[in-house]
Amino acid sequence: MTPPDSPHVAVIGGGICGLAAAHRLARRGTRVTLLESSDQLGGLGTFFADGDRWVERFYHCIMPTDVSLLALLGELGLRDSVRWRDTTMGMVVEGRRHPFNSAFDLLRFSALRLPDRVRFGVVSLLLRRLGQGRDLDTLRTEDWLRGLYGDVVWERLFAPMFGSKFGPSFGDVPALYLWQRLGRERNVATRGYPDGGYKTIIDALRASIEGAGGTVRTETPVRRLHSTGGRPVLTLTGGEVLDADHVVSTVPLPLLRRLADDALAARLPTTDLPYQGVVTGVFFLREPVTEHYWTPVLHSGTEFDGVVAMSALAGPCGGRHLVYVMHYTDRDSQLYLDDDPAIAARWSAQLRELYPEIGPDGIEDVRVFKAPFVEPVYPLGYLAARPPVTVEGTNLLLATTAHVYPDVTSWNSSVALANDVISRIPARREDQPAVAAR
Ligand SMILES: Cc1cc2nc3c(=O)[nH]c(=O)nc-3n(C[C@H](O)[C@H](O)[C@H](O)COP(=O)(O)OP(=O)(O)OC[C@H]3O[C@@H](n4cnc5c(N)ncnc54)[C@H](O)[C@@H]3O)c2cc1C
Repeated sequence: MTPPDSPHVAVIGGGICGLAAAHRLARRGTRVTLLESSDQLGGLGTFFADGDRWVERFYHCIMPTDVSLLALLGELGLRDSVRWRDTTMGMVVEGRRHPFNSAFDLLRFSALRLPDRVRFGVVSLLLRRLGQGRDLDTLRTEDWLRGLYGDVVWERLFAPMFGSKFGPSFGDVPALYLWQRLGRERNVATRGYPDGGYKTIIDALRASIEGAGGTVRTETPVRRLHSTGGRPVLTLTGGEVLDADHVVSTVPLPLLRRLADDALAARLPTTDLPYQGVVTGVFFLREPVTEHYWTPVLHSGTEFDGVVAMSALAGPCGGRHLVYVMHYTDRDSQLYLDDDPAIAARWSAQLRELYPEIGPDGIEDVRVFKAPFVEPVYPLGYLAARPPVTVEGTNLLLATTAHVYPDVTSWNSSVALANDVISRIPARREDQPAVAAR
């Protein structure tokens, strides 16, 4: 039951960040309304129906180091529903497949000459330590990796891998991003996947919010946001106005800027962070094509840059083997704007070429999904430039993927951010600091 002196908090966005924030607020007795524009919750972790199953549009897994997410799953009673498996990595270079997990694999990795293989192995072993105590936030990834691994490894392996994730300015991303990523992921890694898929978590969060008296509204885009005397006011479809004591916005900053009126927009962070979007192909195959969960695909003439074999982690999906292929790209790129059936046809042919054993009838179904704002392309020195979660002079709080740096964008970092942001909202109205209405 919400106490009468509770502030009303509106949360914009029903991805994991908004869901986690609304769950925690509702559970501590704060009146909360979550507003999601699409007809489904989950944001980038959302799903589609495959018969009577639900499948993620974008491949997702949990790492054992995802402590904030695992704590949330504990609260929802879902901690034990995560199935853990040891997974491995492959690498396709010029159409040739390689395992990429052990010293032995590296010694046989014919895509590099022997001296480069040895250097690769030694540097990789020491990389986390080599970064310690250095100001990696102001060091370009390219400068760091070229210096350590040499030009050949950079050009042949890292440049296409980083280019595929961050676009043309990939070399400029701070080396700190990679360093953090290496702390989270390894080639041979234990990964987790929730029983019943991510929809189970999304449904449990909704049930928890509503069970604690909160309101969840899908198909409810926020159209306009302004601030009156420091209090945020939201305009929804049909001119409906929602007055809140606080607003937590989880939508990417470029989208939020479009919603804000001029006065509020002037208070929003000026950092104009570019974002990469993504295009994924989800393939249902009759037979498995690889035992490796993750395989970068380099110099192989494909439009996609990697293969994620979800069935290596989650097991077969209704007797079929689920494989994702992906290309990170700008939302204005030709690929992003291309129509889904054309992408599905081209990518099916390219996947068959990489894995000829698929054969003419091996692909049972293929779906294409796109998301415009996925990976912020962090500039050098972003630790200092990272926008604050508070917006001066208003009760608007920001909790977006632009705020999780130097953590890797993930469900875990979004949950940790949600925890931080809601801790700034007082439990009772009278505890609220006066907001300067400038
Ligand atoms: C291909 C891919 C693979 C990934 N792999 C992993 C992985 O293995 N593990 C992992 O943990 N993470 C992974 N991630 C990252 C993870 O999905 C994101 O970091 C996380 O989902 C971000 O959550 P969010 O709530 O901050 O944002 P989002 O999920 O983007 O949610 C924002 C929500 O706001 C809504 N919205 C936008 N505008 C409005 C409006 N005007 N009014 C109301 N609602 C609005 C959107 O519809 C959306 O639901 C992956 C992402 C992608 C794309």
